[in-house]
Amino acid sequence: MSLSRRTFLTWISTSAVGTLLPGTAAAAQRGEELATLLDLSRCVGCGTCVEACREANQAKFPKPIKPFPTMYPRDRTQVADWSEKQHVDNRLTPYNWLFIQTITGTYNNQPFEIHIPRRCLHCINPPCANLCPWGAAYKQANGIVRINDRICLGGGKCKAVCPWQIPERQTGVGLYLHLLPSVAGNGVMYKCDRCWNRIDQGELPACIEACPYEVQTIGPRSQILEAAHALARSMNGFIYGEHENGGTNTLYVSPVPFDILNNVISPAPGRPHLEAVPNPFLQEERLARAVFAAPFAGLAAGALHLLRSASEHDHD
Ligand code: SF4
Ligand code: SF4
Ligand code: SF4
Repeated sequence: MSLSRRTFLTWISTSAVGTLLPGTAAAAQRGEELATLLDLSRCVGCGTCVEACREANQAKFPKPIKPFPTMYPRDRTQVADWSEKQHVDNRLTPYNWLFIQTITGTYNNQPFEIHIPRRCLHCINPPCANLCPWGAAYKQANGIVRINDRICLGGGKCKAVCPWQIPERQTGVGLYLHLLPSVAGNGVMYKCDRCWNRIDQGELPACIEACPYEVQTIGPRSQILEAAHALARSMNGFIYGEHENGGTNTLYVSPVPFDILNNVISPAPGRPHLEAVPNPFLQEERLARAVFAAPFAGLAAGALHLLRSASEHDHD
C-alpha cells in the first residue's frame, strides 16, 4: 500500500481551516501528524532531491555579516562558517539540509549498495524542541519540527541533545548580533523544516516532488506506518524510525538490516549514524516511577524494620 501524491494533495487540500496551516489544522483535529516513508530499495542516489532542497530553500539560508564578533571567553560556543563552502553537498550544513549517504557492504553473502537521503527525522517527541532554552526550536501540531531563525541564538543545545546531531550552526547571523554578540550565542542553527511553507500551500516538499523514482511518500503517520509495514513485508525488509528515539515522523524501509548499514557508516560530523536509538522518555518514566516509588519504599522499609524489631522483641 502506498499513498500517492494525488492522495496527499487531496488530503491536505480538504483540510484547510481558518488561518492555520492546512495540514496542521487537520492533523491537530485528528491528533494526526505528517510522516514520510522512504523506500530505500528505490533510491539510486542521483541527488536530484538534494538539488531540489537547496533550490527551494535558498531564501531561508543564512546571509552572515562579517567580520564575526570576537567571543569571550574564546573557548565558548565555536564559530562555524559555511558561507564560503555552500557547495558542500555530501553532509549536513546550514546550506545543505539533505544529503545522500551511500553505504556498500554484504548481506546474506550478497553485495549491496544502499543510498539513504539523510535529514532531520522530525521526531514525535523531539528533544531539540523540548530542551531549547529559548523556545526557538519547536514542533508544529502537524509534526513538523522547526527552528525559528529570528529567535535562535545558535548555542547549539538542539544539536547536543539530538540523537543524530542534525542541526548545523552558521555564525554571523541572527538575534545574538543585536544582543551581546561577544558573550551570548554565536549564530543560528539550521536543518530541514520539511518545507513547511510548501505544505502550507498544499504543495509537496521539494525533495519528494523532484525525486524521479518516487522514493518518498508523505501522509498521516498512521497510514504511513501501515504502508511502511506493508512495504517491509513485501521485500522482507526492515524499518527505521518506528521506535527510534520514541518514534520519528520519518520512516525508512530497507532490504538490508539497519544495524548492518550502521556498522558500515564512518561516524563524522554532519553525517549521522543509524543506531537503534532508545526511547529517552521510557527511561524518564522509569526514573519518575522510581522517584515516585521511593517514599513508599521508604515507608515499607520502615514498616518492615518495625515489624522485625517487634518480632525480635517478642522472642526476647
Ligand atoms: S531520493 Fe530520489 S532524487 Fe533523491 S537520490 Fe534517491 S532517487 Fe535520487
Ligand atoms: S532528528 Fe534531531 S533535530 Fe530532528 S526533530 Fe529529532 S531531535 Fe530534533
Ligand atoms: S522536506 Fe524540504 S527542507 Fe526537508 S529535506 Fe526535503 S526539500 Fe529539504
